[in-house]
Amino acid sequence: MWIKNAQDPGYDATVVNLLLENGAQILGKTNCDEFGMGSLSIHSFFKPVINPFTPANVPPAKKSEPRSAGGSSGGSAAIATHKLCFAALATDTGGSTRLPAAYCGVAGLKPSYGLISRWGVIAFADSLDTVGIIASKVENIRRVYVILIPVESDVVAQYDERDPTSVPVDIRNAAHDACEHFPVLEDINDLGKLRIGIPQEYFPAELGDTVLKPFRRVLQALEQRGASLIPVSLPSTKYALSAYYVLASAEASSNMARYDGVRYGMQYRPPYDADLSKTSDVYAHTRSFYFGKEVKKRILLGTYALTAESVHNVSVMEHIPNQPIFRAFDNYYLKAQELRKLIRQDFNNVFRIPNVLQSSNTSKTTTTQGVDILLHPTTIRTAPLLSEISDKGLDTYVQDVLTVPASLAGIPAISIPSIADDGWPVGTSIVGQWGSDEKVLKVAELME
Ligand code: GLN
Repeated sequence: MWIKNAQDPGYDATVVNLLLENGAQILGKTNCDEFGMGSLSIHSFFKPVINPFTPANVPPAKKSEPRSAGGSSGGSAAIATHKLCFAALATDTGGSTRLPAAYCGVAGLKPSYGLISRWGVIAFADSLDTVGIIASKVENIRRVYVILIPVESDVVAQYDERDPTSVPVDIRNAAHDACEHFPVLEDINDLGKLRIGIPQEYFPAELGDTVLKPFRRVLQALEQRGASLIPVSLPSTKYALSAYYVLASAEASSNMARYDGVRYGMQYRPPYDADLSKTSDVYAHTRSFYFGKEVKKRILLGTYALTAESVHNVSVMEHIPNQPIFRAFDNYYLKAQELRKLIRQDFNNVFRIPNVLQSSNTSKTTTTQGVDILLHPTTIRTAPLLSEISDKGLDTYVQDVLTVPASLAGIPAISIPSIADDGWPVGTSIVGQWGSDEKVLKVAELME
């Protein structure tokens, strides 16, 4: 049961209330990257989350070297690994449910943006944040999913007026109707009607054989069961990671502004004699002391990307007199928004089901050419050793390269586990059109 203490919030999130109303027990809180900013659960006040997965056939010495559980919801994936809970809630802004699920050998669902209420969930980047679900079995994820989005007489009904980004009921119903074009998959061994797209841009140079081999095995098994594997192209994928980090940081910088130590967050009082007569000094001391390094980095990056004032680089201007005025807002934030549209359009171009969120698309009939779902590896590698992250300065941001496109497009994606040749888990992501979460879950169940 929920044990209230001083650090607990004064109210529960809609998702927590729904679970409690339906008889679930909340066991506790799990560790994660501060404000969800990270890919490896290393940016935490409570120290890193250690991956609890135990590979078979690996010498004990190698087993004991601690690995990252992935992040940012690493703690949720870790407790699901040894079935310490039926399911765990997580958040997914750019991959934080799918990535730790892949590294820990469990399943993780990022739902369509706007379906599950975010009321009571701490905001990182509002236009991307979703509540994710992690469990050892897809079936458990489904059972939690239907509690969070109750399906009443076949109509997806759960709209939360307290969440301004909650999608209205008519759009939910339209998505439900659009999904009728999804093939009926009843016979587990006959996937003949299922058209699976393999996006060719999802195999970057960083993706090694460790991940490719198990992914090929997954594809072979699906082909044997009759599914059609269709190579597709999502050409704007290459811009996704940069666009994501500009947008997510910009939104984060605005969200973090509320932690001023006066209305929100704890207030820091320096032990030495500091002049705190100005409120801005109280803010500065509090924010400098309590925010972690990664959060500060995002605030700086995001604030810069939102800077509308002209930035004159004096040394450059001296040499090039006609240098156009550089505005970070136009060059980063607006550009990233344009790229986000292209990324969304790429997905709409390949799916058979129309995207009901795009008004120009609602009347579009389904195409026979399109695919029902997309399949790609969730991560570029298996869980990194924690020593590797600190010693070799592993590029943590690249970890998200395969998960951020679905986040930018707001579409559902679930990662399901398989085992690589080195004994460590990898994930396969199943991605669907907006609102086709039930179908994505169905395919995941058939593949499990
Ligand atoms: N790793 C990404 C980031 O740090 C995504 C995090 C998330 O989904 N919460 O922004």
